[in-house]
Amino acid sequence: MPYKTVYINPSILNRPRASVLVIYTGGTLGMVYDQKANQLIPFDFERVLDRLPELHRLDFEITMLTLPEIIDSSNMKPAIWVELAQIIQQNYEQYDSFVILHGTDTMAYTASALSFMLVGLNKPVILTGAQLPIGVARSDARENFITALEIAAAVDSAAVDAAAVDSAATGDQKKGRPIVPEVCVYFNSFLLRGNRSTKHESVQFNAFTSENYPHLATAGVSIDYNRPFIRPYQPAQPLALRTTLDTNVTILKLFPGITQPVVESIVNLKNLRGLVLETFGAGNAPTDSWFLDTIKEAIDRGVMIFNVSQCEGGRVTQGQYQTSKELQQIGVVSGADITTEAAITKLMVFLGGESNPSRLRALLAHSQSGEMNDQVMV
Ligand code: ASP
Repeated sequence: MPYKTVYINPSILNRPRASVLVIYTGGTLGMVYDQKANQLIPFDFERVLDRLPELHRLDFEITMLTLPEIIDSSNMKPAIWVELAQIIQQNYEQYDSFVILHGTDTMAYTASALSFMLVGLNKPVILTGAQLPIGVARSDARENFITALEIAAAVDSAAVDAAAVDSAATGDQKKGRPIVPEVCVYFNSFLLRGNRSTKHESVQFNAFTSENYPHLATAGVSIDYNRPFIRPYQPAQPLALRTTLDTNVTILKLFPGITQPVVESIVNLKNLRGLVLETFGAGNAPTDSWFLDTIKEAIDRGVMIFNVSQCEGGRVTQGQYQTSKELQQIGVVSGADITTEAAITKLMVFLGGESNPSRLRALLAHSQSGEMNDQVMV
């Protein structure tokens, strides 16, 4: 493996409960205060046990892999999402689950992108980070990281018990099925579906929210899983990757007073293939003819326009008001209750892999990885 790798607990356990691959990408979590330099500097994860001796108390094996370049997540890019997806695929058979340590700023984008890129995922991929560096006394890094590891390693104990008395049970069944076989964000006591999460707070510890989908778990004295909302385990599915992402996409956030030159300069960008139109309320936009004509011309040129509400909660219902009916009539695709993070990454991933416009419209309009509830609401 061309990455810096640290093995934790490899020999002290004779029957490890699980093996987890941790991928460290950077972010605030991995900083320590350097007294000499009087500043926060990236923490060398080779010395992780100095900061987190508790890791020895976990009854599973942990391998920590550090990406070659440790980044603030504001520098995250599709090429790194591809790298993360490939690391997961290359290690898919060897590990039971994956934890990605990531800066909080763009964590919801990475979680959304990976949810579309990892096709047939049947193991946990849990992203976490922290608002305060691991080296700071009041840091939230310890709790976030250790609980993310616990969730990644959690298996359905009823299935393990049944397999123990079933002589035909396979090794996999004996080890147990993961409780959360999907891409998630764990932060500040809550497990969220990754492609439903949004960073909504930059100062408090409760950095993430999922307004349109229930929490998948709550970590208190015990970790309580909200099982009806967790994607079910699908046995014997092979993992495949979507790694061709099209970055000819953008986001246009509407505001009262937006001018024709501004809209035109964005919508008529050369090579543009997909646009997230951040509309008001339930998916409403101005009905000025210059606005609708500009959008319609772009659709006629083949640009996919995806209607996403500026509201964190609720949904786009095209046709509820006259101000959204027109968008529906000219061919804007409703994003229903999708987040902007999921919408823009969904455009990149599906524009990258599909060129047929009607198939593309169908992929966008319907849930692919649990990112939206596309049932029509009346
Ligand atoms: N700027 C940091 C990052 O996203 C913030 C954090 O990790 O909380 O990498």
